[in-house]
Amino acid sequence: MEPVPCLACSTFFTPRNKLQDFCSNPNCQLVRKNLWQKKKLATDPEYREEKRLAQKKWLQNNSDYWKNYRRKNQEKTTRNRSLQKIRNKRKKNQADSQPCKTIGIAKMDARKANKNRISGQYWLVPMIAKMDAIEIFITSIPGS
Ligand SMILES: [Zn+2]
Repeated sequence: MEPVPCLACSTFFTPRNKLQDFCSNPNCQLVRKNLWQKKKLATDPEYREEKRLAQKKWLQNNSDYWKNYRRKNQEKTTRNRSLQKIRNKRKKNQADSQPCKTIGIAKMDARKANKNRISGQYWLVPMIAKMDAIEIFITSIPGS
């Protein structure tokens, strides 16, 4: 067979059959598996239900998993809680009034100047890519 480009890494490889779209690189196989699973979950209600039950059973057997995870990953926990507050606020705002897509999060949360309350830890969250949040610290400079 003629070499074809891998759909994940674009490296040319010789497929074993004409259905093979991914090379044997473990990362590419992981991409292939994730795509398969995503498609399967979207199209197969039985598979989706079995997976849900398996996850529920696993969680019953590992009931303190998330508690331990949050204890070990406090920065991620803080970040996630901040993002959840934003999601809750956004959801509440959408429920309260018609959605306004032109106003960003920063404007909706805008505060009036208050020198005593500006210091603290904040997350900068881009409007579209939630995974790219940047942690920043804002500290007021006395006398400015
Ligand atoms: Zn590849």
